Amino acid sequence: MIKKSLFAGIIVAGFTLSAHAADKWKIIHAGTLLADAREEVKTEQSIIIKNKNIVGLRDGYITASDIDGATDTEIIDLRDQFVMPGLIDAHTHILGQQEANSREKRVTRSSQYTTLMGVEFGMRTLRAGFTTIRNVGADRNAIFAYRDAVNNDLTIGPRIKAAGQTISPTGGHGDSGNGFRDDIFPHPHSGICDGIAECRKAVRTQIKFGADHIKYVATGGVLSRTATGTGQQFTDEEQVALVQAAHAMGRKVAAHAHGRVGLEAALRAGVDSIEHGSYLDEGTADLFVETGAYLVPTLIAGYTVERIAMERPDFFIPAVRQKALEVGPVMKNALKLAYDKGVKIAFGTDAGVNDHGTNAYELVLMKEAGMPEQAILIAATINAADLMDLTNVTGTIEAGKEADIIAAAANPLEDIGTLMNPTFVMARGTQIDLDVPRPADLFPWPEGY
Ligand SMILES: [Zn+2]
Repeated sequence: MIKKSLFAGIIVAGFTLSAHAADKWKIIHAGTLLADAREEVKTEQSIIIKNKNIVGLRDGYITASDIDGATDTEIIDLRDQFVMPGLIDAHTHILGQQEANSREKRVTRSSQYTTLMGVEFGMRTLRAGFTTIRNVGADRNAIFAYRDAVNNDLTIGPRIKAAGQTISPTGGHGDSGNGFRDDIFPHPHSGICDGIAECRKAVRTQIKFGADHIKYVATGGVLSRTATGTGQQFTDEEQVALVQAAHAMGRKVAAHAHGRVGLEAALRAGVDSIEHGSYLDEGTADLFVETGAYLVPTLIAGYTVERIAMERPDFFIPAVRQKALEVGPVMKNALKLAYDKGVKIAFGTDAGVNDHGTNAYELVLMKEAGMPEQAILIAATINAADLMDLTNVTGTIEAGKEADIIAAAANPLEDIGTLMNPTFVMARGTQIDLDVPRPADLFPWPEGY
């Protein structure tokens, strides 16, 4: 037994050595290149990639012989395409999606099956041009396993930063036991907490098991099955305790917030981002600017729940339908107000509410809300990377960063909707096969896909 494994070890070592000697080089010929969304586009550019990383940019279309020591070089012809950094979605729930009989599945589906759903939904997200996601609430064991498998190159998917369980008060927006009999859902998950000590412990527990950041619910939410509105849920003191516990351990905090009072409490507590932000006003926007927090607008979540509530009146229970009809329409105005007041915006969808793979429709809704195309692209690349502490890794196409690169047939600075149909996706140096049929989901995809 020992002999056999020793022999296998030698073979593996020999193979690894020769594989390392043969680096994989790729040169992308980009007809139009937006390497950094803050800058001007350039034409006829070459992007040089060695294994996972971008190693340089050159004017004109170069070949392998122009690079010292480059062997095994693939030329990727995007001379008639618009090339830009991979998109980043800072608000996803990658392990699940709205579906029929979701309550029954909540108490019958295994964590392991949920992980595999994440693998499929992650691929749909990646093929949609999103090479990085920030997951903000999920089955903790499932999401950390999936994140680690992707980030360790065990499987292909978008780069993932994950929160673990959503932190919520008992009966609050993130309490998945809401409405169940207590013998069916006997134990609250590790993110449920009340009072300062419990809140600190809930945060520390997520971090202990691998959370990259913390997500808590400052206010009620639309899809929780309770008629408890969208006002403040955690008290001011609890929110301060949550944020302090996370920051003390080097983790940023995302707060789900619709109602203004709870939202402002979250900003005062020092959160790094507000998710949704539906009922913010001018005073709230000033507070954003003062604290430097990002707004993650999730317009497509509002669009989706409003559309379902109108087109399929029986899909939601009445309490949820009511909230969906109220919150959906106000979100665009909130984004416009925030953008005009100089609030920092990071792109995020709430994917899982909308179907995974439709993420880029958020770009169109942001444009409809009144944001210029360039600001939208900054939100979906540089700002989202900054919020996720990934500025040195992704968000622009420049030497030293990982090769997260997408292309579209038209110029998104003139037609943002072109990004709903990317023509090329590369994640960390690996080109993704886009020739996969779109799934038939519960709801028809927005027009344009
Ligand atoms: Zn969410």
